[in-house]
Amino acid sequence: MSKLNSRSILAVTAIALVFAGYGYAVDPAKVDATPATAPATAPAEPAPDIAEVSAITLDAYTPIIDAHAHYAGVHPVVLKWLARNNVKIANIGGRRRHDTFMRLAKDHPNLYGWITDMPRPRYKDEGFTQADYAAKAIAQIKLDVADGAVSVKIRKSVGMRIKKPDGTYLQIDDPLYEPVFAWMEIAGVTLTVHVADPKAAWEPLTENSLYADRYKKSPKTHYYTYYAGKNFPSYEEILAAHDRVVARHPKLRIVSAHMGNMEHDLAALAARFDKYPNLAIDTCGVRRISALGGQDRDKVRAFFIKYQDRILYGSDRNAGGDQLKMGPEDLGWSFHDLADATKIAWDYYATDTVREVKGVVCHGLALPRDVARKLFYTNAKKWYPGL
Ligand SMILES: [Zn+2]
Repeated sequence: MSKLNSRSILAVTAIALVFAGYGYAVDPAKVDATPATAPATAPAEPAPDIAEVSAITLDAYTPIIDAHAHYAGVHPVVLKWLARNNVKIANIGGRRRHDTFMRLAKDHPNLYGWITDMPRPRYKDEGFTQADYAAKAIAQIKLDVADGAVSVKIRKSVGMRIKKPDGTYLQIDDPLYEPVFAWMEIAGVTLTVHVADPKAAWEPLTENSLYADRYKKSPKTHYYTYYAGKNFPSYEEILAAHDRVVARHPKLRIVSAHMGNMEHDLAALAARFDKYPNLAIDTCGVRRISALGGQDRDKVRAFFIKYQDRILYGSDRNAGGDQLKMGPEDLGWSFHDLADATKIAWDYYATDTVREVKGVVCHGLALPRDVARKLFYTNAKKWYPGL
């Protein structure tokens, strides 16, 4: 581990999470438009030294696929670090970053893959019809797949932001998407979904809540404050819509991001895994590790072993701008964010390292080697064929 103290790790992670829109209701369009200046509110601590970050070594016994990130790591030192540590990143692109991520995957097929976005319905466009939307969405997905996309992602704006012409919130089980899902099921294209947010967003804030700092900083994402009596979808409604899609399309591979936002309730996830063989989850990001680290270690470990074929590692890191235009300080933060998050995850899942992660002392799960290999590598290849 580098000489960086844990405070700087936490600080940069928090900043990165803001930029990544990790679990936030930040307008995704704005997240995509993150300026090249990266962490604008970087803490008054010395930036990570690039050489020092380069020295972070994972000591992994398997290649690693980070199955969920938004990381345009184009700087030569980052590319070198990925190659040396045998890490490949699957970038999920908003339309604005679509070309960047597509190009990265084409230029560096061993280091990058990409996942495209489900086109957003433009209800206000003249002549908008569901049939027309579906035809155009399928055509776009075909083009993206031809350009190397291994999956299509639906964002959490579906469920919590996009409203239908009748004023209700569009949910993922809306008839709008049915022809698209049906086509994906036949074509063998994996669906990645980000539904809802951590359940804590719908609950009163407590001082020791894992998300207290987040909701204080970004109260708009704490739905509790405007959920009650305001016709905002509940956590349960959004998840129920998700489950209906999983049930309706048994041959559609579905990867539910951020542990399906059920990281606090592994029994709820287990019940879904038992019911739906076509469902997997990714682990991103760092805060999920602290959520797991605060639970009974034996139970968490048993969960990861029992469902070893259904869980993909993801970091949710975000490069937050054009690394080639960054000065050494911003590059240091940007690079450190990825290397450190990957190291934290490897240590937590594959080793018995004890470390504080976002204020929680996490005792590494030391998963058996074959299980860790599936989590960090094989499952990504299985659930995202072509990655
Ligand atoms: Zn993400």
